[in-house]
Amino acid sequence: MAKFRCKRCNYSFSMEVKVTPKVCPNCGNTNCIEREKSASELLDEMQE
Ligand SMILES: [Zn+2]
Repeated sequence: MAKFRCKRCNYSFSMEVKVTPKVCPNCGNTNCIEREKSASELLDEMQE
């Protein structure tokens, strides 16, 4: 499960997808979705 957040309306949601969705399900804007890193991913980055 990946978490995403819309930079326009600040709506956050989770989706079972491998790629970042292009359209915000809340406000409908495109190219405003940002992937939120999970805690384990952040830990992985610090260890590298
Ligand atoms: Zn939005």
